[in-house]
Amino acid sequence: IWEESIKIIKEKISQQNFETWIRPLKVASIENNHASLSVPNKFFKDWLTENYREVISEAVSSSTGKEVLVDFVIMQDSEKNPRSAASPARKKKTVEVQPQETRRPKVHPTLNPNYSFERFVVGSSNQFAHAASVAVAEQPAKNYNPLFIYGGVGLGKTHLLNAIGLLSMSIYPDMNVVYVSAEEFMNELILSIRFDKMPQFREKFRNIDCLLMDDIQFIAGKERTQEEFFHTFNTLHDSGKQIVVTSDKFPKDIPNLEGRLRSRFEWGLIADIQPPEIETKIAILEKKAQENNILIPTNVAYYISSHAESNIRELEGFLVRIAAYSSVTGRIIDLDLVKEVLKDIIKQRDNDGVTFEEILKAVSAKCNLKISDIKSQSKNKNIALARQMTMYLARKLTGSSFPDIGEKIGGRDHSTVIYANNKIRKQLETDSKLKTLLQDIEDQLLKKN
Ligand code: ADP
Ligand code: MG
Repeated sequence: IWEESIKIIKEKISQQNFETWIRPLKVASIENNHASLSVPNKFFKDWLTENYREVISEAVSSSTGKEVLVDFVIMQDSEKNPRSAASPARKKKTVEVQPQETRRPKVHPTLNPNYSFERFVVGSSNQFAHAASVAVAEQPAKNYNPLFIYGGVGLGKTHLLNAIGLLSMSIYPDMNVVYVSAEEFMNELILSIRFDKMPQFREKFRNIDCLLMDDIQFIAGKERTQEEFFHTFNTLHDSGKQIVVTSDKFPKDIPNLEGRLRSRFEWGLIADIQPPEIETKIAILEKKAQENNILIPTNVAYYISSHAESNIRELEGFLVRIAAYSSVTGRIIDLDLVKEVLKDIIKQRDNDGVTFEEILKAVSAKCNLKISDIKSQSKNKNIALARQMTMYLARKLTGSSFPDIGEKIGGRDHSTVIYANNKIRKQLETDSKLKTLLQDIEDQLLKKN
């Protein structure tokens, strides 16, 4: 069955991913509708669960002809390659004692214990948001209420939000802390309406001491949810409870957000997280490596950090890949190994040697506009043109997909990117000024590399 499944999987994913992730798997057991596959380590397990579980389940299901659930178990040491670099060859460093974990062994149902302040690396890009978060956790509802944290995808908003909850609970064990994403809030609301449970819903959300609401931009355009959140907000705020929200946009750039909510968000403190500089990326990488007992030489950390875009989630993904590859092949992590593992990803980018961030920067400089304006919802003619130019150049120079570009330029729909691309192309046929301008930017971007 596994042989059969492997063939199916092989056709669905790239050769390199297949060799890295699927080849090392061994069948631990297959029975009825449950298959267990053994993997070399926890890193590997997490990565597979997140990225390949469905592909594998589908393949096993179709080769057995019935629905099969797949899970992963970690191999015993004896099954592993003895030279494995990611296995704890180094003596484990004494783990920092984390107060909330020792004093409160009880696991909070909605907080992620890994997202603590101890594990958050502070650099100039996130220093302000970090300081505000610590202040709020130490003295809830005292200084900044609400605290509004905004920043791009994968820059640490959810991590900070959780850290606030963890620290608050370690200082005030009786505090009722609730972490909820705006999407979960909406889903719960819908269920409560449908099953006549609104009193319970209100009871729950209006008796919180510290409400941590993630990804508030999600409620944009959802009127009933905004209405309910508005009342929740007022009740909590009036009774001196702390509210923290995160968003991928600045309040005034969230489209279709009611004015009264927007103004509430502006009552407190608005703190941004910017993309990290290379030093912070290296520090984060080294910390994650250390936490997972992986030895990363500095030149390697530098190489990875300078090739990862500013997204920290991506940086972590690279590390997982590298560690897994090293553990499977039994090779130590050095520059050669890293180049080999990341070659596909980096080649795509190096083709033109230009990243989205660089394009954005170049366009904003040339047009004398702020990057935040280009990413904003503003309909101002100059800004809109600069935005379309950015999308056009991103498509042309990085070859990224339309949805990817849309995501990066302030969370826009892929159809907006396609539209921008066509519009600029059309305009280029007649508008020689635009043509020169774009050519200038392009030359400048390519020369730099
Ligand atoms: P966001 O919610 O902004 O999309 P997350 O908080 O989910 O981003 O962060 C993505 C990943 O990057 C998480 O695994 C998180 O632990 C990690 N991360 C982000 N910022 C930092 C940081 N400053 N130090 C350590 N890890 C970080
Ligand atoms: Mg998040």
